[in-house]
Amino acid sequence: MSKFEQISAHIWIMHAEHETDRPILAAIVGERRTLLMDAGNSPAHAGLFREALKRRGVKLPDLMVLTHWHWDHTFGMSAWGVPAIAHSGTVKTLRDLARYHWSDETMKTLVQQEMLSAATVKDMKEEYGVESERSIEIIEPDVQFEDRIRIDLGGISCEIQHVGGDHSEDSCYVYVREDKVLFLGDALGPSVYGGPRSYTSAGFLSLMDRLHEYEGVQIFVESHGVPVSRDAFLADIGEWEQLARLVALHGDDRERITEEMAVHLSVAELPETFAEAIGWFMVGVERGRTLGLRAAGGDGT
Ligand SMILES: [Zn+2]
Repeated sequence: MSKFEQISAHIWIMHAEHETDRPILAAIVGERRTLLMDAGNSPAHAGLFREALKRRGVKLPDLMVLTHWHWDHTFGMSAWGVPAIAHSGTVKTLRDLARYHWSDETMKTLVQQEMLSAATVKDMKEEYGVESERSIEIIEPDVQFEDRIRIDLGGISCEIQHVGGDHSEDSCYVYVREDKVLFLGDALGPSVYGGPRSYTSAGFLSLMDRLHEYEGVQIFVESHGVPVSRDAFLADIGEWEQLARLVALHGDDRERITEEMAVHLSVAELPETFAEAIGWFMVGVERGRTLGLRAAGGDGT
């Protein structure tokens, strides 16, 4: 059973579960309306949150907002039966995905096309079972926006801001100003589809610039993590920001980036998480170079 928790005056969450990549779901409860943040990775996942809300007497969602199109955040939509709000990029991708029948063959093709990853398909099969019992219904969101949208729930408001980034171009932050809570979705993560995982320094630093605009935040929530207090979050993310700056400065000089990051952290050897992330940034540098050459009309040689 997932942990259900009230994290601020108006916000209840169900924690992430990693076995089948279930992200955090949140209910933001105003005097007039309750807003659901992310739909869950399946109707079963959605149902657990719904039951938990009911048991605690929390008013059920009247509408939902999606942080980005990825399956684990959206494939539970059909279980809620309420209007959904999403960035236009999220709407477009879900519209494309709604055409598929999710057979093993389809999933294999989507992995070959790098629309999904092998890890995602493994999680989806565990969540939905074998082909004969698998039923996946994808719903197209009802309301779409481009840059930002503000939702008044009665005494409390939510601001959804499109931020993009490497993880998914349609990523949004969800800010609940009155409760000083910022939901980051998966925006700060590396790309997970379209080839090997990658980060770009430009993408990461632009997300950080956006993040620093929210000055009053006291609780930061990443969808596959746990809610984190301001000081702890900024200390941790500051190290990643430093890494992105070193990549911006030194490009593909992996050795120099590794050395300078170790100095920054005052460690003899760089922790594995950062060593791995440097690898993702190097993929990003290489990809940027290829795209740049193509844009300049070169043939990449
Ligand atoms: Zn994601």
